[in-house]
Amino acid sequence: MTTHGPVILLVEDEPEIRRFVRAALKANGYRVVESSTGERGAVDAGTHKPDLAIVDLALPGIDGVEVIRRIRGWSSMPVVVLSARVQEHSKIEALDAGADDYLTKPFGVGELLARIRVALRRAARPATGEVLMLGEVELDLAKRRATRGGVEVHLTPVEFKLLACLAKNLGLVVTHRQLLIETWGPSHAGDTHYLRVYMKQLRDKLEVDPVQPRHLITETGVGYRLVADEEAG
Ligand code: CA
Repeated sequence: MTTHGPVILLVEDEPEIRRFVRAALKANGYRVVESSTGERGAVDAGTHKPDLAIVDLALPGIDGVEVIRRIRGWSSMPVVVLSARVQEHSKIEALDAGADDYLTKPFGVGELLARIRVALRRAARPATGEVLMLGEVELDLAKRRATRGGVEVHLTPVEFKLLACLAKNLGLVVTHRQLLIETWGPSHAGDTHYLRVYMKQLRDKLEVDPVQPRHLITETGVGYRLVADEEAG
């Protein structure tokens, strides 16, 4: 067991799930701090300064969304939501409060570990200036340029802005609201039809099969996720 791995705060009231997640994390070299209530979790986030927090939404006392809001008041640490709430509005509320990603119970250990790796990688290495591989397409964020086999794929300024917003959160879900605000501004926060139009355009330009996208992934009712080759592997 390593004593140097990243520290993960686990805010979860169900002892069985804590035991299960703790075992998986420890077996993979993470150190674990556990909190069984929301209040405790918000305090532990401040005292232990973990590298990442896993937060359940349904907790006794203050709920997970409030825990995320409190953490976001002072920290940009990655937060992954673990929740039995499958309703889209719960996911959106948590993501808009500042969560980076979510998993719905029941979940597999492999999936949890993959989401943690993506979130930690995002936190350690912001996407700006990075070159991403999306299949045969090379996306150079600093040069604002996409090429396929050296040939430029023309992207409009709006298409690029939308893509850059997804790339900034590479591998993580971004809500419709966040994409709309960052791309078109706050007055367009509800214009989800813009996204349908522009995501189709981006898929037509970037995906091998736009009908079965491998990189521009729909999170039904919630938002979109950009998956580059390194994240897919
Ligand atoms: Ca719970």
